[in-house]
Amino acid sequence: MFLTITTTGTPERPATDLGYLLHKHPDKAQAFSTSYGTAHVLYPEAEAQRCTAALLLEVDAVALVRRGKGKGRGGAPDAALAQYVNDRPYAASSLLAVALSGVFSSAMKGVCNARPELPDQARPLRVEVPALPARGGPDLVRKLFEPLGWTVAVEPVPLDTEFPGWGDSRYVSLVLESDTLTLAEALRHLYVLLPVLDDAKHYWVAPDEVDKLLRAGEGWLPGHPEQRLITSRYLSRRWSLTRQATERLELVRLAEADDSEVEEIDNAVGAETEAEEKPTPLAVQRREAIVTALRRSKAARVLDLGCGQGQLVQTLLKDPAFTEIVGVDVSMRALTIASRRLKLDRMGERQASRVQLFQGSLAYTDVRLKGYDAAVLSEVVEHLDLPRLPALEYAVFGSARPRTVLVTTPNVEYNVRWESLPAGHVRHGDHRFEWTRAQFRAWAETVAERHGYGVAFEPVGPDDPEVGPPTQMAVFTQTDPKEAKAA
Ligand code: SAH
Repeated sequence: MFLTITTTGTPERPATDLGYLLHKHPDKAQAFSTSYGTAHVLYPEAEAQRCTAALLLEVDAVALVRRGKGKGRGGAPDAALAQYVNDRPYAASSLLAVALSGVFSSAMKGVCNARPELPDQARPLRVEVPALPARGGPDLVRKLFEPLGWTVAVEPVPLDTEFPGWGDSRYVSLVLESDTLTLAEALRHLYVLLPVLDDAKHYWVAPDEVDKLLRAGEGWLPGHPEQRLITSRYLSRRWSLTRQATERLELVRLAEADDSEVEEIDNAVGAETEAEEKPTPLAVQRREAIVTALRRSKAARVLDLGCGQGQLVQTLLKDPAFTEIVGVDVSMRALTIASRRLKLDRMGERQASRVQLFQGSLAYTDVRLKGYDAAVLSEVVEHLDLPRLPALEYAVFGSARPRTVLVTTPNVEYNVRWESLPAGHVRHGDHRFEWTRAQFRAWAETVAERHGYGVAFEPVGPDDPEVGPPTQMAVFTQTDPKEAKAA
């Protein structure tokens, strides 16, 4: 299995910087042992104008078969292993992708301590894979790589050059070229897409594969036109995992789109509360309303569900009445930003013991959410497709069952008060719906009734006599602590 990466350069930006980026010295040939065989890294050429790194994986078929047996699958080697005897030593595939991520792990993460400015720079890249098993053929190869900014040259490899009549094999030779990508991006594309094209993963899919896929796909997989195919093939067509990954990807995309826009819009709404010189942004008014309601409920241990970038967690930390604050979000990116905002790593021990952030989806019940005094869902429900809302409802009101639940959501009636918003548009492109006051009330009352809660409603922001406030808040209080009524 063989792959080369070539870059060109100038005296100011020499191509041999590739050595820094890959953390592998251009003058050396190195070998790394992996569980599947030996990975060699060498540079067939290393000049300032042009530098090529080659990754060659020598597969040890015996080790592979042993590994398959040893993993406690009742001693039966995977049937798919049979093919390793045939093509694995030669064809680039999922094994090469695994080697790639092992041997070039810092490069894939975009880390280069020696030259920290390098990883973020796009540079001319040419990737060659002479024998790539490609189920779906050249067409699919183009569909996968072209949307990512690659120029793709792909040729089917004939079964036998002496007997053209035999037709093409399932292999292609592939050359990718781009001037707009960073090396880290390129490696992450290969890490995901080589096994997708191979479509025969060499080991069974463990739940952490979803995380690996999301990490490697960050920044390009959400929004890729073939996202579904990539996800499902990468996860070897395990449907439950595929669904989970698809959903999380979608949510990550939503969350990212959210980041900039929400504050912008909130400020716009705040600006409309006339008169005062510096109007309080709606986001701030919302947090104030939430904190007031939480204090009133005498909550000490609070969940912030869909905490986003942690603004509410930060506000809650300032009040010692809140002894434990847990932020949960489906987006790792949002949580990373939240943790940076809170300076979690530099917090004193006492303060740090009050706060926790973790990743989770509200569409699934989660034992970690049980036993809290209160839960806040601030501007979260409208990000779920309506058919998924009952799942969230059950996870929060049926399973986690905090004593108090606060839910805020936009009031769509207020949108007409907003000059910058064309009629009939929602406030944010990723809102799946926006409710009128009556719709929100109807939903909240049904939920309360079904799960043994009482519910009251409060306006947040200027309460317009005709259309109501920009944000509406429901305060649920448990009346029947024992159990949910059947849905
Ligand atoms: N609560 C914050 C963020 C609102 S944006 C605030 O009021 O500013 C909506 C957030 O909900 C995003 O961070 C998004 O990642 C998160 N989210 C959406 N669906 C989710 C789900 N199913 N599980 C967990 N979090 C979700």
